[in-house]
Amino acid sequence: MKTRLDEKGYLVYCGYRKNNELSERKVHRIVLKPLLDYLHYKYSEITWVVHHKNRIKTDNRFENLQIMIKEHHDQLHIEAMKKKT
Ligand SMILES: [Zn+2]
Repeated sequence: MKTRLDEKGYLVYCGYRKNNELSERKVHRIVLKPLLDYLHYKYSEITWVVHHKNRIKTDNRFENLQIMIKEHHDQLHIEAMKKKT
């Protein structure tokens, strides 16, 4: 699989085709795509993000990924930052 690291440290898959043009997709969003599609369809007003439970952005195993509401996810990372300092 053709992948590279993006500027934020996430693995992106480079061979994804969209409207016949080659584009990139974050691997963790590909892993959970059916679920994300369903949530976007069902709760379209909510922004859904994928969280890496062990904080390793390249660890895209299914069990390491968690779909969260963006605000909750932001909060989680803010809390984690506070604990470190
Ligand atoms: Zn996260």
